[in-house]
Order: sequence, then structure tokens, then C-alpha cells
Amino acid sequence: YMPGSAGQEKMPSLPDFILVVIQDLTENRRLERMRTDFVANASHELRTPLASLTGFIETLQGPARNDPEARDRFLSIMLDQAGRMRRLIDDILSLSRIELKAHVRPANAVDLSEIVRHTTDALSPLASDMGVEIRLQLPDTPVRIRGDRDELIQVTENLIENALKYGHDGKFVDVGLERPQAPQDALTWQLSVRDYGEGIPREHLPRLTERFYRVDVESSRAMKGTGLGLAIVKHILTRHRGRLEVESEPGQGATFKVSLPAMENVEGLPEKISA
Ligand code: ADP
Repeated sequence: YMPGSAGQEKMPSLPDFILVVIQDLTENRRLERMRTDFVANASHELRTPLASLTGFIETLQGPARNDPEARDRFLSIMLDQAGRMRRLIDDILSLSRIELKAHVRPANAVDLSEIVRHTTDALSPLASDMGVEIRLQLPDTPVRIRGDRDELIQVTENLIENALKYGHDGKFVDVGLERPQAPQDALTWQLSVRDYGEGIPREHLPRLTERFYRVDVESSRAMKGTGLGLAIVKHILTRHRGRLEVESEPGQGATFKVSLPAMENVEGLPEKISA
């Protein structure tokens, strides 16, 4: 509400601050709601492996007490369930650490090209185990942006791991880093991760970065997913003034594109970040 604007004619007697208060309350309520939903979902996700662990412990104390073959099998399932709880807790902590820093702009200059190469090297043993080749296309010169190296590694890792996990029917995963041609994107760098797997049905695309959202819960669990990877990616990118786009045709694979402001662009961006 700006003095002298059209709004003034509609509400001549309202002082300016009332509008601000109303907006704050709505935003607070939305955030509060998100927090309670998150705690409820996280508790539910943790309870499932915990229930399974408790069940197996009871069976081992009772009926399977003297059955070495069953014991070995159950212990190995229990180890898997404990691993799932650990991954969930790691991701929940990771998300809350990033949220704490949500409004702090990363100050260090990093080389995005080095980060992508580092991550690809780290994931190439996993890729070759899955029979997938990661094809990498990087510029010849360093790609300097302002960013947090560990967080950008996490973004790259999550996207490439997803491409391997959900795109493993394909023989390749393509990872590229380039300056888009479109004039409106001239001051950004774009990281793209393309797989040739099953792809993602259109109706799911807008919801992929929601916490615990999975297209197929069973396949995510089988792939040791937590449903938090893309939520973490989104939060890291918000802090970096970045953007995530997803393109996919079912049966044709998926392309995840991350845009990040180039170094010379960052300096001109406003200080305030809206989450
Ligand atoms: P998860 O831990 O389950 O992998 P993410 O947040 O990383 O969680 O991804 C959310 C969901 O998006 C996944 O469960 C999967 O259904 C879908 N998804 C992510 N990446 C891809 C991809 N490259 N191809 C197909 N589906 C994908």
C-alpha cells in the first residue's frame, strides 16, 4: 500500500502498518504449518524402520532365538533399517542446517567447474557398478561464482545420484556446464544433469522439491532415498540465488537444470533473499 496509489482510494482510513501486520501473520502461519507438517512427516518416516527393528528384535528374543540361519537374515535386514534411519536423520539435519543459513549470502569465490569434476569423480565408481557412463562437458576455463563449496557439491551429488538411481535403464548420464545463449540468461551459469531413464510424469514435476515427496515410494526406498534430496537442493539454491528447472517426458528420461548467477552478476543482486 503506497500513499497516493490506487489502493488509497479504497481504504482511505487504514494506516499503512495494518497491511504489513496482516501479511506477517499469514506468512507466520504458513511457516508454522510447514514446520508442524514436517515434524509429523519426519516422525512418521522414522517410525517405520523403528517399528521394523523392534519387531525383529522381539522375534530374535523369542521364536528365532535358536535359529542361526534366521538370525543372520534378520540381522542383515536390521542393519538396512538402521541405515535408513541414519540417512533420514542426516538429511533432516542437513536441511535444518541449511535453513538456519537461509538468509546469509555465500561469500566465497568457488570454481563450479572444479566442483562438478570433483563430484563426478567421486560418483564414477558407483556409476560403473550400475553400468552407466557419466559423460562430462565442462568449459576450458574456471567457472567462478560466489558459493559454498560443500553445499554446491551436495547439489551436484544429489542430482547425479538421482540420475543414476532413477535413470539406470539408460547407458549414459550427461553432465554439462555452460553459459546459456538466451540474452536474459547471459549472466548465469547452467549446470545440467540428463538421464535416459523412465522419466517423470508431468503432474509430479511441480512437487518434486517438497519434503518427502516421491513419485514412487517403493522405488525410492529400494534406492535408499529419503525424499529429502531435492528439498535440500532447492534450499541450497535459494541461498545462492539459483534456480532449478526440470524437464521430462515419460520414457525419455529427465533433465535437471540448475542456474546460478555468474560472479559479475552476483555483485548487482539485492541483499534481501525471499525464501
Ligand atoms: P529420493 O531420496 O526419494 O531420491 P529426492 O528428493 O532426491 O528423493 O527426489 C524426489 C523424487 O523425485 C524421487 O523419489 C523420484 O521419484 C523423483 N526423481 C528424482 N530424480 C529423478 C530422475 N532423475 N528420474 C526420475 N525420477 C526422479
